[in-house]
Amino acid sequence: MIFALVNPGWDFSGSIYFGCREPHFPLELGYSKALIERAGHSARIIDAHLEGLSPEETKKRVGELRPDFVVVTTAPGYLFWRCPQPELRVPKRLFAELADIPAIKVAVGPHASVTPSAALTKLGADVVVMGEPETVLPELAGGSLDKVKSICYRSGPVIRTQGGPRASDLTALPALRWPREYVRRRAHHHHRFCSNVSGCGAEVEASRGCPYSCTFCAKREFRNNYRKRPLPAVLDEIDGLIAEGVEYIYFIDEIFMPDRKLLESLSARRVKFGIQTRIDLWKPQMLELLGEAGCVSIEAGIESVSEAGRKHLGKKCAITTDELAFLLMTAKRGVNFVQATLLDSSMDDPEVVEAWRSLLISAGIWVNSPVPLFPYPGSEEYSRRWGEPDSNAWERAHEHYLAENGSFSDIQESAPLPLAELEGA
Ligand code: SF4
Repeated sequence: MIFALVNPGWDFSGSIYFGCREPHFPLELGYSKALIERAGHSARIIDAHLEGLSPEETKKRVGELRPDFVVVTTAPGYLFWRCPQPELRVPKRLFAELADIPAIKVAVGPHASVTPSAALTKLGADVVVMGEPETVLPELAGGSLDKVKSICYRSGPVIRTQGGPRASDLTALPALRWPREYVRRRAHHHHRFCSNVSGCGAEVEASRGCPYSCTFCAKREFRNNYRKRPLPAVLDEIDGLIAEGVEYIYFIDEIFMPDRKLLESLSARRVKFGIQTRIDLWKPQMLELLGEAGCVSIEAGIESVSEAGRKHLGKKCAITTDELAFLLMTAKRGVNFVQATLLDSSMDDPEVVEAWRSLLISAGIWVNSPVPLFPYPGSEEYSRRWGEPDSNAWERAHEHYLAENGSFSDIQESAPLPLAELEGA
């Protein structure tokens, strides 16, 4: 069987999406390709975002493969599954373009995982995968959809949902090898802010999932349970990237945990890296090691400057706001860029927020103005308000968000459009 694995050419105009718009490695497609090939089939990744392909050009490339399955992701890579664009405009447009290619059309991604039947219907797909797709896709090639768990699919006029969201066994995922010409096109260094950037950038994951349950976090249906990749596989992948000219790696791990062995291994390599983490999990000595290992960028979710606010958001943060500030400042001594992210929890006094921001900013730490919360379907925040996500969940959350927030953060479109308009319904 032949699989075409497609990352669409993303366009976020009119969207409330606040993630980075540059191309990143679609790791979910990379692992899927490896496991499909291991099962004796063939797979090719078409990264329309990286290559700047239009839907028509993407179709041409897909058609040349004569695939049995075409797989399209509904968010731009695992890095953004927890904060995807709510609208399915881009993948929907691509599925329409691919309609006359005689292959089974499959969608993977956060929308497919949280609201599978709505995603199936909106996209006009034949199958959607719920959860992490790497081990599900090779099973589709077995021929009997009724035996495959973690999918939603059309069976005549009926839509059938089988099993719950899949969580992959990370020990089964090999060290990824990306084609040389693909790596060489990657000039972007994700979340790195300095003037002397050189070499290619790449994304890697050392672990997946998170043991916490913050109310605003949409990870329940994918990348949920904390799992570590075997260190030899992670280092093998990193060494392969360095050999291809990569000088900067962004670890997409939900929370990059303090890990002495990994940090010491990175120290021995000529590579810089960035992470997202919870600063409350680090001790000063480990932060020192983090800087020595080559970390040049930290994004730490603080969310609220009050203990009551963090409690309200389910952060389960065991230290005080002053201790958080101390750890951020300690990190800043060895790491070039440190960011503390704040959300608008509606629990904090704006004057206290501004005073805290000023304190940290004067210490060289970037702190954003609190960003309004998008109640992602699949998050506790959504369920608190409206119960379990139904087929109208993304529309409901989007409508609420637009109604509640008159102004948007400096990293969002100032005039976002309603979801129905974006999706062209
Ligand atoms: S710490 Fe909270 S926001 Fe971060 S990944 Fe875990 S649950 Fe999500």
